[in-house]
Parts: sequence; C-alpha cells; structure tokens
Amino acid sequence: MDAAGKPMPSIFLAHGSPLLLDDDEWVGELRGWAEAMPRPKAVLMISAHWEERPLTLGATATVPLIYDFYGFPERYYQVQYAAPGAPALAQRVRELLAGKQQVVADDPRRGLDHGAYVPLKAMYPDADVPVLQVSLPTMDAPTLFEVGRSLAPLRDEGVLIIGSGFLSHNLRAADFRPDPVTPSWAAEFDAWAGDVLARQDVDALVDYRAKAPAVGYALPTHEHFVPVVVSMGAAADTPGEVQFPVTGFLAGSLTKRSVQFG
Ligand code: ZN
Repeated sequence: MDAAGKPMPSIFLAHGSPLLLDDDEWVGELRGWAEAMPRPKAVLMISAHWEERPLTLGATATVPLIYDFYGFPERYYQVQYAAPGAPALAQRVRELLAGKQQVVADDPRRGLDHGAYVPLKAMYPDADVPVLQVSLPTMDAPTLFEVGRSLAPLRDEGVLIIGSGFLSHNLRAADFRPDPVTPSWAAEFDAWAGDVLARQDVDALVDYRAKAPAVGYALPTHEHFVPVVVSMGAAADTPGEVQFPVTGFLAGSLTKRSVQFG
C-alpha cells in the first residue's frame, strides 16, 4: 500500500531498445510516470526477453546485467544498473504461486535483461529500488492472466508489478528513417488495444489472437505482447482507474502505448 492506503498500481510499459536511454523525450515520460506513482518498496519485473518454463525467479542479489542485443556501439555494453535484489519478494512470489499449478524455479545467476534495466534506468535512475525479475513461463494468455491474478496481493505490500514489452512488435515493418508514417494496421491495432485495456475487457485481451485487428502484422511473435496480460491480471480483482502515461509510435509501427492500472 502507499501512504494513502491504496494498492500500488500494476503497469505495462513499452521498453525500447538500449537506444531508448538516448531518447530524452521518452526517458522524460518514463521518469515523470515513475515520479507520479507512489514510490515502490520493490519492483516485480516480467520482461519479453526472458522466456523460461517453469516460471523462474532471477537473481535475488546484485549480479551483472545481461546485454542481450548485438551490434550496438560499445558504450551500450558498459551501462550499469546495480539495483538491490529482492529476496523477500522472491519468497512472497513462491508463496503466492504455491498451489496454483504454477511450478517455480530459481536461477540465482540470472541478471536483468535490457527489457528490464533499460526502462528501470529511465524510471529509477539511482538504482535504489530492489528488483526481482521473473520469467515468462508460457505464451498462453489465460495462464498468464491467472499468474498476474495470483500475484495481485503484492500490490498491497508496496510492490510495483511491471510487464515490459511492446503491444505491437513487428521489427520487419519498423521504419527508422526520420518522420516515419504509421501504417493503418498499426493504428488500428493500437486503438483496439487502447480500448480493451481502458475497459479492462479480460475476454478480449486473453483472446487477442482471434479478436485483435491485424494481429498477424502487429505481432509476428507474441512475447512482447503477453506481459500486458500479467499486468492486467494483477488488477483484475480491484478495478480502478486506467491511464496511458505514454502513447505514440516508434519507427512508425511500434506502439509505445503503456498502461497503468490503479
Ligand atoms: Zn524487446
């Protein structure tokens, strides 16, 4: 809970590549968003860039970052983000998932990947909020929704649950030239997602593969979308205000739409 006794928000954000940290506008949006929320006691991070079954808890001590990208200038491999680990949060995740048909494993040497540390460096640049990253155990949306729902009590314990991905993520359609045009399919997909999230329409969200327009263009693969299902699951039983602190497009077709529940 925050000082006013409200649960912490549950959020999903578009995480960008390591280049995000050079984008002053985007960094400013993420920092402003973090400053507008109550300060978390810890962050539970679910990033598109760690798929592992069963659900696995990352390091609970500070270990090196994972530079899981290739061909970038050397300075992107020097970035540091030495956030404290969150062993007590890891124990709570184990307790909350016990008996939910969700096996939990540990990978104590697994550091934060770029889907985790890039946005966190923008939001909490001093790296002073403990972070636990957990893996995406499946691409199955109904299962991930229930994982989020099981983790919802953490919001009452001061934990900020962050799903990190991109609602649309077709890199072959990305146009990195100046002033790219947003194709109509990307605009339609983004509008659909915005509507479904604003209404917290669980049925539509978990059935997005059938219900979303242009899903084949927007999501050639699904790992960047499904973290939002965990975030909405964590808000399912306490519907509250829904906000979109970041919107717009990167490279024409990648929606930056990011959402805050509660
Ligand atoms: Zn990514």
